[in-house]
Amino acid sequence: MILDASDHKGRMACSAKGCRADAAYGLLWNNPKVHTPERRKTWLACEEHAASLSDFLSIRGFLKDAVPVSEITGDLDSSAS
Ligand SMILES: [Zn+2]
Repeated sequence: MILDASDHKGRMACSAKGCRADAAYGLLWNNPKVHTPERRKTWLACEEHAASLSDFLSIRGFLKDAVPVSEITGDLDSSAS
């Protein structure tokens, strides 16, 4: 399956609502209720929003990993579900 990631090419913007800043981190997460275990969603976070976005995910037990944006590989699936 090839996802159309054209929206994300060239510029990695923060996933926080209303934020247009360049992302510094990728937050890799998985919701076991709706995703298969190997699935990884990626939220992008700027320096300002990295803490709040990762808290949101970790409180729910969804957060798997956080990496510098330069280390993100593969298709980016940054939708909310
Ligand atoms: Zn932000």
